[in-house]
Amino acid sequence: MIEEFKNRLEKEKEELLNEIQKIAIKTGNDFEAKETTTNTDDVSDVVDQADEFENFNNNEAILKELEKRLDRVDEALVRITTGVYGKCIECGGEIENSRLLANPAAKRCKKHMKN
Ligand SMILES: [Zn+2]
Repeated sequence: MIEEFKNRLEKEKEELLNEIQKIAIKTGNDFEAKETTTNTDDVSDVVDQADEFENFNNNEAILKELEKRLDRVDEALVRITTGVYGKCIECGGEIENSRLLANPAAKRCKKHMKN
């Protein structure tokens, strides 16, 4: 069963990294949002500063969310290697399978989940 969750997590990580690469540039161990969206070819000269600024804000917001999810996935993968995957970090009890199926990166049982 863990193997199945591991596959799902690795797939999700790959997808997240793909998404991140579309909107951000890797700087060392970090990512920095690109100033404009990737399809700069479509951006004409008449695009004013306001639009570019808006794009930048969007990329930053999206990047933040993607990085948060990536962190959670990474953490879950580490928990698999250290053998504590599927155990609630609050009570040490088994996390329900239905919960892991809904969210393979979950680290709390249903009783202790925060949202
Ligand atoms: Zn618990």
